[in-house]
Amino acid sequence: MTDAETLFERIIAGEIPSEKVYETETTFAFRDIHPQARVHVLVVPKKRHRNVAELAAADPQLLADMLTTAAKVAELEGIAESGYRVVFNTDSDAGQTVFHVHAHVLGGEQLGFFGR
Ligand code: 5GP
Repeated sequence: MTDAETLFERIIAGEIPSEKVYETETTFAFRDIHPQARVHVLVVPKKRHRNVAELAAADPQLLADMLTTAAKVAELEGIAESGYRVVFNTDSDAGQTVFHVHAHVLGGEQLGFFGR
């Protein structure tokens, strides 16, 4: 495993400090170190899967847990009513850099269009 693959496992284990927002038995949510919006929280499953496609195939319940946690984070951050975006970058063209599936929860301001 490379450092990028183990990074989130080390954050979940508390070996690398992070600003925790919420935690469940199966998921962990913490602030992104380089926020791309006023609210930018990462939601990760404690068990590692490479990306959302592999997670969906292997453990759909865990994917559902991640989305439930994302909704809870939105509530805790006060953006559930104003709206927010949940993003899964998947592999190279999407710019995925950490190969431990994670959802970006973005909001707290009007978000721009995305794509190219
Ligand atoms: P990706 O590009 O793989 O979709 O997203 C990885 C995210 O992890 C990036 O938004 C990046 O800012 C964030 N990140 C990388 N290293 C750290 C870290 O050590 N701590 C935190 N909190 N976030 C990190």
